[in-house]
Amino acid sequence: MPAEPLVARLVDAAHAAIAAHADELTELDRAIGDADHGANMLRGLNAIRDARAELAALPLDRGLERMAMLLISKVGGASGPLYGSLLLAMGRAARDPAAAPHALLAAGVAEVKRRGRSGRGEKTMLDVLVPVQEALAAAAAAGLDRAATLARLRGAAAEGLEATRPLVATKGRASYLGPRSAGHLDPGACSSRLLVDAVCGVVEAE
Ligand code: ADP
Ligand code: MG
Repeated sequence: MPAEPLVARLVDAAHAAIAAHADELTELDRAIGDADHGANMLRGLNAIRDARAELAALPLDRGLERMAMLLISKVGGASGPLYGSLLLAMGRAARDPAAAPHALLAAGVAEVKRRGRSGRGEKTMLDVLVPVQEALAAAAAAGLDRAATLARLRGAAAEGLEATRPLVATKGRASYLGPRSAGHLDPGACSSRLLVDAVCGVVEAE
């Protein structure tokens, strides 16, 4: 049993993943956006890491809601409010102690769709988040064990990211490029994939 609370380990893993790949996220955003996705995500994750002790002392629902508020208040750019919406809705769903992880993620992804007025296939973070959420629900329904579930989630995230490459963006800044947005990975899908992998790594080590 690791000594650190789950929330603290999630914060550390998410921060490390974004810090290690911030330049890559920025380069992806340079191609089809405004070259700030790495900086935006790092600003948000730095704020969350700075609040690590406070977050770790909170129950899961309030920890998620507090992280959401930090992202919404610290990250300029579309991604902050959208990731904030994801965590805020997950936190609200977590107020029910009986809610399963797949139910939390489903609530979060539904809120990103609502807030972004977007869905899968528009070359955004939802091209990773939706298939990951579906894979988690399917794994729970099939009664898969933890290792098999994590493998499905990682696979769904990797495939979802790669699937953004040929897409033409119809939401966000990349949509201004029209057909010229095709041929590049979406930066937000890439950060989502990194975060999914980071969460899977923490759960795997539990
Ligand atoms: P900005 O576009 O304001 O510069 P970022 O560069 O931080 O913000 O984030 C861009 C990412 O946000 C995109 O790559 C995309 O994944 C995501 N995004 C933008 N608009 C939407 C939307 N309406 N729905 C879902 N995701 C979106
Ligand atoms: Mg940007």
